[in-house]
Amino acid sequence: MTETSHASVSRNDHTLKLTVAGAGTILPARGLSTSCHALEIADRTVVFDMGPGALARLALAGLDYRDLQTIFISHLHPDHTLDLVTLLQALEATPGWSRTQTLTIAGCRGLKAFITELLAIFRDAVPQTYAVEVIELEVGRHEIAGLTVETCLTGHTSNSLAFRLETENGVFVYSGDAADMDAMIKIARQADMFLCECSFEKGYPTTDHFTSDAVGRIAAAAGVRHLIVTHTYPTTDHDRIRADIGAHYAGLVTIAVDGTVAQC
Ligand SMILES: [Zn+2]
Ligand SMILES: [Zn+2]
Repeated sequence: MTETSHASVSRNDHTLKLTVAGAGTILPARGLSTSCHALEIADRTVVFDMGPGALARLALAGLDYRDLQTIFISHLHPDHTLDLVTLLQALEATPGWSRTQTLTIAGCRGLKAFITELLAIFRDAVPQTYAVEVIELEVGRHEIAGLTVETCLTGHTSNSLAFRLETENGVFVYSGDAADMDAMIKIARQADMFLCECSFEKGYPTTDHFTSDAVGRIAAAAGVRHLIVTHTYPTTDHDRIRADIGAHYAGLVTIAVDGTVAQC
């Protein structure tokens, strides 16, 4: 093998590889850490949400925080955002290394003020040698750092977004936290990988999250190839979630825990 760059020897350029670094919620639980999902597309790693502890769990998965180029933030709840500041401080505190590459953080309405206020508190995390580009995404289609991204509102909070990435290697959709089934069916249409929150089992009374039967109905109606379930509360029974989904959706289902990997 010819010695080339780290990226070209370790990655298959024709796949999308998803690593669920955090498959849980705000509640502490072994194997269900706060939200963080990494998608490797050719020579880049894109991260969706960064809850507390995300940076450590990305390292456990073999992903280098220095290589992160683009981060999408679905909404501003702490289980999806708190390690943004850990990342920014780590990028300033790495001995013998300085970042020069721009870091793009794109996501929901309010993201700019959120990051500005974080950096006003954690002043040592303010970037010195590189630029942070923060982009608040409207609903619709965007070109972000060379990626084609579609967003929709999810009904979880007033600004919560879902993301659809259309790449040469396949279509990836992440629900974020969500409650609007119609919007999710539309954005998840024919996805190769559909990473969907499933906070609770069928029958649990909720107006701002999906339950397992809703997730099964969405995956079936959208015609997705592979459903990966994330953001399950530690009170849920994964066997029941799988059965509830299977009552509606006959395709491939993975119920994620921390460290789950899926590829297409
Ligand atoms: Zn959440
Ligand atoms: Zn939330």
